[in-house]
Amino acid sequence: MTDAVDAETTPTPRRKPKPEVTTLNGRTMKPSTLMMGHGYDPTLSEGSLKPPIFLTSTFAFESAAAGKRHFEGITGQRPGGAEGLVYSRFNGPNQEILEDRLAIWDGAEDALCFSSGMTAICVLMMTYCSAGDVIVHSGPLYAASEGFVAKVLSRFGVTYVDFPAGATRDELDAVLAKAKAQAAESGGKVAMIYLESPGNPTNALVDVEAVRDARDAALDPETTPIAIDNTFLGPLWQRPLDNGADIVAYSLTKYVGGHSDLVAGSIAGDKKWMDPVRMLRNTMGGIADPNTAWMLLRSLETVELRMQRAGENAAKVCEFLRNHPKVTGLGYLGFIEDARQQDIYDRHCSGAGSTFSVFIEGGEEACFRFLDALRVAKLAVSLGGTETLASHPASMTHLSVPHGRRQELGITDSLVRISIGIEDADDLIADFEQALAKV
Ligand SMILES: *Cc1c(COP(=O)(O)O)cnc(C)c1O
Repeated sequence: MTDAVDAETTPTPRRKPKPEVTTLNGRTMKPSTLMMGHGYDPTLSEGSLKPPIFLTSTFAFESAAAGKRHFEGITGQRPGGAEGLVYSRFNGPNQEILEDRLAIWDGAEDALCFSSGMTAICVLMMTYCSAGDVIVHSGPLYAASEGFVAKVLSRFGVTYVDFPAGATRDELDAVLAKAKAQAAESGGKVAMIYLESPGNPTNALVDVEAVRDARDAALDPETTPIAIDNTFLGPLWQRPLDNGADIVAYSLTKYVGGHSDLVAGSIAGDKKWMDPVRMLRNTMGGIADPNTAWMLLRSLETVELRMQRAGENAAKVCEFLRNHPKVTGLGYLGFIEDARQQDIYDRHCSGAGSTFSVFIEGGEEACFRFLDALRVAKLAVSLGGTETLASHPASMTHLSVPHGRRQELGITDSLVRISIGIEDADDLIADFEQALAKV
């Protein structure tokens, strides 16, 4: 690597990627185009077309003064943050490229990657909540998110007020009034509104625009962010920042990673919302590792293709399931029956996704027979992978949810959750047909 040239005359290598093309002939390039090169300059890496995986724990400073400047940025003594890479708990080349590309999908100014979806969500909540504060959240949430609020943040003096997904503007106004009163009583503030839409496994949608309007009327939008877990429909079928959310959170483990071979998470939004989270991530760690970041760069090149195909497959499979005599109901966003939910869908979503619930006549016993008979679909929790997965939430992912609350949320013993992959749709239909015959 070291050429025998005079060090005095060798130009210092550029540390920042050269300006790249993001618009052409007045067109802003689409994310699917930008995923192939955005944020990476091959000339900085021996011409390697793809970014190498940078396995290093630390980065060499050009000079002692440069080192001081970096740390002034990282510690917040100088505004603007770090200007280069310093230490791998803070960031690395693979993660920086990943963050640049993730931000594009949501139309966000900035993004941060994490070692899991839950790390992203926990660090986000800890950044914005202090003792005495109240967090307002939609329900149901992913079980670990709900548990973090109720069982962990509560130990640090943070309380919560929750509301059902689908709440109307009037209901939201009442929820925020209650949260404000609760915060005043405990000497804190309403720190954050945290949403998950669609909810898991029922696919109930939250009206993000109504939440934004209610927040703007009751609270200071400059200090109380609206965050939303967009794992189920993002980044392709829902862009919540366009509907009034300030921060989107992801389990990248699901559709974005897309191959059921990694665990990672992210958040994205305006820099002013990201910077405080970055500071806490710098302190706590929890950034994705370079290898996982590289795998995610590969995944992002095909995320649109994979999600489109999975969405088309799900539509065909659901069309089949809808007419099957042993299927008593379908929680699929392509066949919404409630007018209000349909209205939210029309304003927020550009596709019905590929994860849905199917209700099978006969309760747990019938569901287990169905699941055990599947030959193409795999029996596993998780979603958004290339392969079709099926699970029984009441006895698996939501077993820890009290029976009464499960009924309230519509998670009955007859519900099977399915995440459709990118196999051949007719093969999937054949699999479901033969498995239903065994029920
Ligand atoms: C899986 C999931 C998470 C947690 O993500 P991990 O990557 O498993 O930590 C959070 N929210 C939703 C909606 C999920 O599906």
